[in-house]
Amino acid sequence: MSVKVSDDCIACGACESICDAVFSIEDKAVVNESAVADNMDCVQEAADSCPVSAIVIE
Ligand code: SF4
Repeated sequence: MSVKVSDDCIACGACESICDAVFSIEDKAVVNESAVADNMDCVQEAADSCPVSAIVIE
């Protein structure tokens, strides 16, 4: 499982509020890959909540 944030990210902060173990906001959202496996529920919720669909789960 791999989680990526595309350049469409507008750094709104929603993913970090929903799943701060995995997402943090710099110029755009960045992913803490090592935390993904233990946090898939909130990763999916963050992806579903992203206003520009920038979170890609592969
Ligand atoms: S929710 Fe989407 S647009 Fe907002 S910071 Fe996260 S990845 Fe970027």
